[in-house]
Amino acid sequence: MGLLKKNGSLNEKEILDALSSINDPDLKQDVVSLGSVNNLKIDTGKVSLTIKLTNPACLVKDQIKIEAENAVKKLNGVTNVSVSIDFEVTSQVSGNTPNLIPNVRNTIAVASGKGGVGKSTVAANLASALMKCGAKVGLMDADVYGPSIPTLMGDSQKPQITENRIIPPVIHNVKMISMGYFLPKEEAVIWRGPMLHKMIQQFLGEVEWGDLDYLVIDLPPGTGDIQLSLCQTIPLTGAVIVSTPQDLALKVASKAIAMFKKLNTPILGLVENMSFYLCSHCGKRDDIFGHGGTQNASQELKLPFLGEIPLSTEIRRNSDDGYPTALTENPYSTAFQSIANSVASQISITNYRASNIPSIEISN
Ligand code: ADP
Repeated sequence: MGLLKKNGSLNEKEILDALSSINDPDLKQDVVSLGSVNNLKIDTGKVSLTIKLTNPACLVKDQIKIEAENAVKKLNGVTNVSVSIDFEVTSQVSGNTPNLIPNVRNTIAVASGKGGVGKSTVAANLASALMKCGAKVGLMDADVYGPSIPTLMGDSQKPQITENRIIPPVIHNVKMISMGYFLPKEEAVIWRGPMLHKMIQQFLGEVEWGDLDYLVIDLPPGTGDIQLSLCQTIPLTGAVIVSTPQDLALKVASKAIAMFKKLNTPILGLVENMSFYLCSHCGKRDDIFGHGGTQNASQELKLPFLGEIPLSTEIRRNSDDGYPTALTENPYSTAFQSIANSVASQISITNYRASNIPSIEISN
């Protein structure tokens, strides 16, 4: 690293030693051995540095900044400390698997056992919440039988097609593609496996996704051809399973989980949608579909629980208006930010485990 130059009475080793008490909240390792400390500058008593996290949606960024500043402030000779928090999303080395989207660092499949549980709503809001945190995000609507992503994300221009390349429209700063753009309205898709496989290949290989931190993929409900095709076509970083709290939904969700396990796709965790209802008039809470079923199922299945989203008229209204709740200042947007944090955290952990990041050796 070449960081250990003497600089007046303060040296960089002292500062790194002080920072080694700060842990990355996702990877649970200290930021120094992870190599997350960058741009360390010492100008007599003035110290500035950047801590790079791997989770752009981290909810405790401010806390880490304060902790790091306090740790350095304690050192003799320090008069001023400025810590900035930045992020760099990691990726897994794809090995020998042919990759149609080499510049996409992570692919997140959003799946459910059955329709109507809010899978597309979660996909659109997850993509929007990650974008809001500064990540580069794409959203692929693979739900060919009911492509609702264009409605949920709002009106846009159609994709442009130039010599074998599809330029995706950008809506709310998210690159998007959907079969909804190519089908006449009201027309039903009655494709079989090979055509679906071809569509997935085109949506991956021919769309100009560019450089992305995350590509969120809204799958059709169930355990059919598209899911198989997708898992065979690209190495998925992981799947997010959406369910409502009641038994019936959870039973079908476990089928989706079993399918991803068979396909060796990591499961990032479960989201409970329509978790409870708060009456906007009297504030009374009603657990319409029960509550906590998904969290219990996560525990039984030993899978991470990624968070819960209430049933809310505002979420439904924002969806119908094409303005994802995650982008609003509405209190419910925090539910989606929290899920984005959990998903990005699981991805950071999965990538960290898969890679063999060597620790920095501090030498004098
Ligand atoms: P799926 O993709 O599972 O079929 P959708 O995301 O299309 O489900 O959602 C189905 C309907 O439920 C949509 O009208 C959507 O706006 C509504 N919806 C989804 N989640 C919520 C929620 N948490 N609160 C209110 N309405 C919701």
